[in-house]
Amino acid sequence: MKNMMQDIKGSDKVCGVIGDPIAHTRSPQIHNLLNHYMGQGVIYVPFFVKKENLKEAIEGAHALHIQGLNATMPHKQELFKYVSSVDETAQMVGAINTLVYEEKGYRGYNTDYWGLQMCLIEEGVEWKGKNVAILGSGGAAYAAYVAVAKEANHIYLFNRTKEKAKALAEHMKPYFKAGCTVYGEEEACDISVDLVIQTTGVGMGTLQGQVPKAAKTVLKTARTALDLIYEPAETAFLKEAKAKGCKCINGADMLFYQAVKAFELMHHVKCDEKELSKIKAMWLSK
Ligand code: NAP
Repeated sequence: MKNMMQDIKGSDKVCGVIGDPIAHTRSPQIHNLLNHYMGQGVIYVPFFVKKENLKEAIEGAHALHIQGLNATMPHKQELFKYVSSVDETAQMVGAINTLVYEEKGYRGYNTDYWGLQMCLIEEGVEWKGKNVAILGSGGAAYAAYVAVAKEANHIYLFNRTKEKAKALAEHMKPYFKAGCTVYGEEEACDISVDLVIQTTGVGMGTLQGQVPKAAKTVLKTARTALDLIYEPAETAFLKEAKAKGCKCINGADMLFYQAVKAFELMHHVKCDEKELSKIKAMWLSK
């Protein structure tokens, strides 16, 4: 990859990811690998952008004709103020993670929900007509909700701050028919769920080794557990789910596929599915 970067041409397009912090990002790895195989003439780099500099960063990026940008914490909600148009799914998720250059400004998209769907499809996990539990009510939970709500039977939302879970359910009401029940993280309830999507930060960083408090309740009946965390590859939540006999999936595939969708939107191409499996395996082995 380093050798490829020495071979930059004047005709190459520049893309990147903005965030604070940004040093941990794996997006450049994925996008530069996709470019290598798809031959789009792209250079994709990380940009450290503080919250207070977001407006200037977006205006500057547009002036520099930067073809596409991904956004990570803390910019996903703020970006609505600085785009010229918004895709419907980004509106539903309430967050923008991808910007695509247009003459009059950037168009905002959300590809997280799509990455999550692709990850479930690839693993052969069915959510149509099933009961789904979502742990957490932050940005990733909104994407998870949009990913499954159109076809799920019922959604159970668990969050430490119950008010935030209520706000999520209210936000989604106009978009989806599926019923939704909201609980605090330790609230006792007798429910039956097929799929659990763990979207809280519990299990990574300083919370590594910890299990979300709702795990006991939802893992009683669950057959599949997806944890959006990908570092560590196996969280304490997934260990517990595995012990209960669940099929377990971490967040790496979601991360890969949200990047694929962003790549397709930025460069107006469709990636070859067979090539994608190869590229994903290569990225995962890095
Ligand atoms: P966020 O908006 O900050 O939301 C964090 C969520 O975690 C909230 O529901 C919060 O509950 C809960 N939480 C945090 N600390 C907790 C604790 N000590 N005990 C109980 N609940 C706690 O973050 P986000 O953007 O949704 O991201 C959440 C996770 O998803 C992160 O680990 C991120 O890396 C992962 N993610 C993965 C992908 C992927 O592609 N695999 C994509 C997006 C995000 P409160 O509402 O009570 O604060």
